[in-house]
Amino acid sequence: MEKHIISKSTFIRGTQCLKSLYLNKKRPFLRDRLSQAQQAIFKRGTDVGLLAQQLFPDGIDCKPRSPSQFRKKAMETLEIIRQNQHPVLYEATFQHKQMLTILDILVRNNHGWRAYEVKSSLKISDTFLLDAAFQYYVITGAGIELDDFFLVTVNPDYIRKEKLDLQQLFTKESVLQKIKELQPYIVSQIEKEKAALQAKSSPKIDIGIHCHDPYPCDFLGHCWKKIPANSLLYLDTFDKKFRFEKYQKGEDRPELIPLKNLNEQQKLQITAALQKSLAVHHEKLNASFSHPKEEPVFLSLLIIRPAVPLFNGMKPYQHLPVAAVLFDTKEQKYQLELFLPHHNPIQKSLDFFQKISMQYPKIILYDKNQLNGFLEESAPEELKQQAREKIKSLQELFQNGTVYHYLIHGDYSPERMANILSLPPAKETDTTKAGMQWIQQLTSGDFPSEELKQTTEGILKNQIGFTQNLYNYLKNKT
Ligand code: SF4
Repeated sequence: MEKHIISKSTFIRGTQCLKSLYLNKKRPFLRDRLSQAQQAIFKRGTDVGLLAQQLFPDGIDCKPRSPSQFRKKAMETLEIIRQNQHPVLYEATFQHKQMLTILDILVRNNHGWRAYEVKSSLKISDTFLLDAAFQYYVITGAGIELDDFFLVTVNPDYIRKEKLDLQQLFTKESVLQKIKELQPYIVSQIEKEKAALQAKSSPKIDIGIHCHDPYPCDFLGHCWKKIPANSLLYLDTFDKKFRFEKYQKGEDRPELIPLKNLNEQQKLQITAALQKSLAVHHEKLNASFSHPKEEPVFLSLLIIRPAVPLFNGMKPYQHLPVAAVLFDTKEQKYQLELFLPHHNPIQKSLDFFQKISMQYPKIILYDKNQLNGFLEESAPEELKQQAREKIKSLQELFQNGTVYHYLIHGDYSPERMANILSLPPAKETDTTKAGMQWIQQLTSGDFPSEELKQTTEGILKNQIGFTQNLYNYLKNKT
């Protein structure tokens, strides 16, 4: 058995961009650092995959523990199948013509072998189909006939009742017909990828829409470094296709974009890019700061979205507030609220938002997206309305044409903002990490540790600090 040169993940990488495939193999040191958010997605995928194994209990684990075990495990997998030793295999490993794949679950029933690939998403995407089609090519090429191939995803309509019902939580859909139809494409794509990997230099592929589709490429830092920081390519109020058309014609400089026919947000972004600074729509900014007269209170939140519902009545990926910190400027006092663990955390959070939106005339937080998601799913109409009026987001001001900085480049995270506006550092990545820890501890039935509670409080206070600094910075621009 020859050593593999393409695995399932590198195959998918190659379908997005052959240059990325090449750089990943030959120049891995040029890769961007994996963000906390991306790490969280990988971790979530692994956790959901492990849970889905329980759909077919008592399987034998064929997982290679390190890359040096790939060939050995592929031979062992074939042996187990040929000897009919076990009806359920987890992480079954296959190699064929220098291709490698590790399938989540392989099950033998009366009809033959059935493949199950688990995805932690709520629906099947084109990329998942390509992934399954590549696996089908390798597994059948390795000599195993497949009776069927299923993609297993998380059921968006599942509502938890007491004990977790795995049969209801997961949806299994046969994709055999679709992936058989994709086989000619898989064969030709493998040839292209092999040729790219054998080439002496990296393929001549320019940046394009493919750099972010279907996933943000991890060589953006390398390939995009030649793009001027104030290029039209970075201005996200313009249609992507339009931006790349201009770039390909060499017309992506902001001075080449006529202001006529642009909307207010686009005009503000072009102004910021032309001036290479922060651009302000003074009328809008003044309106946001003029009412009410008294100082606002500041709010920061940790909201998690566990793939697997943690409490009765919850759905997969439902927003679940964990903790909040409120800072009362007048009293100079922090108030910490922990919603978890509590027998009804949703109600406890709703009561908190109800109370603060009655008590304070204006509440400022940085990013309101998660809160909006939570309220949309769980709050009565009256509270949604109240929260819309009282709780204001600073991030929104950068997105709705009130202020814009030319170095945002589509990244509205507190870290990026603090960095480009020279404010004291903010640590959004810690929030993602803390969220993952909360999910982990609650999933394993533990009460969150004192240490995690204290870390969460520290992170939320840091966020309050950032929000206050940004608020004062913007107030000075009115
Ligand atoms: S950044 Fe774009 S062009 Fe560069 S390797 Fe990635 S996808 Fe390809």
